[in-house]
Amino acid sequence: MTDQREQGAPERAEVSAEARLVHAGARPDMGDGLVQGPALTTILASVGEPGAADYGRAGNRTWAALEEALGAVEDATAVVFASGQAASMALMLALAPGRDRLLIPADGYYNARVLAERLRPHGAAPVFVDQADLPALARELAAGPAILWAESPTNPLLRVADLARLGELAAAAGAPMVVDNTVATGLLQRPLDLGAVASLSSLTKAASGHSDVIGGAVLTRDAALASELRAWRTLGGGILGPMEAWLVLRGLRTLPLRIERQSASALEVAAHLAHHPAVTAVYYPGVHAPTLAVARAQMPRGFGPLLSFEVAGPAAAADAVVAAARLIVPATSFGGVESTWERRARWAGETAPGSLIRLSVGIEPAGDLIADIDQALGRVTQAS
Ligand code: PLP
Repeated sequence: MTDQREQGAPERAEVSAEARLVHAGARPDMGDGLVQGPALTTILASVGEPGAADYGRAGNRTWAALEEALGAVEDATAVVFASGQAASMALMLALAPGRDRLLIPADGYYNARVLAERLRPHGAAPVFVDQADLPALARELAAGPAILWAESPTNPLLRVADLARLGELAAAAGAPMVVDNTVATGLLQRPLDLGAVASLSSLTKAASGHSDVIGGAVLTRDAALASELRAWRTLGGGILGPMEAWLVLRGLRTLPLRIERQSASALEVAAHLAHHPAVTAVYYPGVHAPTLAVARAQMPRGFGPLLSFEVAGPAAAADAVVAAARLIVPATSFGGVESTWERRARWAGETAPGSLIRLSVGIEPAGDLIADIDQALGRVTQAS
C-alpha cells in the first residue's frame, strides 16, 4: 500500500463503511494491476536505520491492507493475529498489568476461559461471571481493578448481553471492557460505540467466510493499546502469514452480502425450529423474547449466521441427526458459505447441554436448509 493509494482511497465521510470495505487497501496507481497479490516477502530492501516493517515479523503490506479494511468496518485501528486465540492472548496480556481479575462469561466461548485459566500465573486471574446478572457484575467490578471480558451473542448459546449497560458499569469502575464480536462481526454490531476499548474477532469465521483460513483481529480506538498489541505480536510472533491475510481480505470484501443472506436465513430456520415437535429449545437472538429488544437495538442489521437448538432425546439422538444431513456438513466452526452443524458437547471442556446442536447457516437458500433439517430430524425421530 503506497502513500498515493492511501491518498486515493475514499475518505470516511464520503462513503459508507461497506463501500470502503470493498476498496480498502487496494487503490491502484495508474498502470498497476487492480488486484495486488499477497506480499510473499519476509524482508524489504533497506539500508541505514531500519524501517518498522523491514523484517516480516513486524509488518507486511498485505496485513496493512487487511487492517485498513477491518478498520473501515468499525472505524478503528485493527491489529491482526495468527488466530482469534492469538488475538485473545495478546489482549489479555496487554491489559493485565495493574489489574488483578479478568471477569469472563461462564457460558461464552470455552477456549477463552481455558486460555484465561492458563494465563492465571501470568496475568489477571479469571473470574467466571453471568453477563445477565448486572448487580453481581457491579459488585465484582467494585472489588478491585479488573478487565471486563464480554461476549455477545455467546458461542454456543447465543445469549445476548446488554453491551451498552455493561460498558457503563465498566466505565463507572474504571475497567476496560473487551467484547468478543466474532459471532456478530463488526458489520452487525459495533462494540466500540457501546463502551468497549477493544472488539475482538476470530477472522476464521464469517469475516473470511470460506472455511479456508485461520486468523484473528483486535479493533481499538486506543492508540496506546494498539501499540501494545503490536509489540506482543512482534515479540511473541503470533503473526498472520501474508497468504492468510490476503485470503481474509478477499473474503471480507463480500461480508456484507453474505452476512445479510445468512442472517435472514438463520432467522427463518430458527422460527421453523421453534415449532418443530422434535426440538425442545431454540437459541437465536432473533427469536429469544427476553433479550429481543436489546438484540434489535444492538444488532439492527441482523442477528448473524449462528443458532443452536436442543433435540428431544439423549446425546446419541443429536449425533444421529447431525449424521443424517444430506446438505448440511457435519463439522465444527461457523460463518462459512456452506452450512455446517455439530453436537457441541462432543468437545471436552464445552459446557453446552448434551443434546445441543449448533448450526452455522450458510448462503444456501433457506428452503433447502429447512428441508434438510426436517428430513434429518424426521429420520431420527421415526427410528426411535
Ligand atoms: N471467539 C469465539 C467466539 C470463537 O468461536 C472462536 C473460535 O471458535 C474464537 C474466539 C477463537 O478463534 P480461532 O479459532 O480463530 O483461534
